[in-house]
Amino acid sequence: MATIFTRIINGEIPALKVYEDADTLAFLDIAPASPGHTLVICKNEVATLMELSDAQLLATARTTQRVAAALQKALQPDGINIMQNNGSAAGQTVFHYHVHLIPRWNDDGVIQFWQHKSMSQADFAEMVAKISQAL
Ligand code: 5GP
Repeated sequence: MATIFTRIINGEIPALKVYEDADTLAFLDIAPASPGHTLVICKNEVATLMELSDAQLLATARTTQRVAAALQKALQPDGINIMQNNGSAAGQTVFHYHVHLIPRWNDDGVIQFWQHKSMSQADFAEMVAKISQAL
């Protein structure tokens, strides 16, 4: 079954589009974390970052940068979070690759969900070995 974002691409569901090209689409999130919260999606129905082709990755990154610049110019936020969830444990609810652009203002009250933790040197060493060997 097509994802809700494919249905938006196909015009079956309305969306407030801000940009579109052959490979990507950008539209306002229906439940914004802040004013201007925009989603950039890859038109191909690919669930996560890891499954994107190089061309899809490049196209989505280009549109993300372009829309971020537009948000900066139009809304003049103090910052912009660029976020992307992969897998339900990471908060992904729509399994069609997308990037969140969330304009931020000083003291806007938007909650940053992660908390920094400490880790031992041994655990750091094990982690870096594991990740680098998987590349
Ligand atoms: P995720 O949790 O998968 O990273 O993000 C999915 C996002 O899609 C959510 O922020 C949610 O508000 C947004 N969303 C879900 N359904 C629709 C829709 O039909 N239209 C629009 N514009 N956004 C949607």
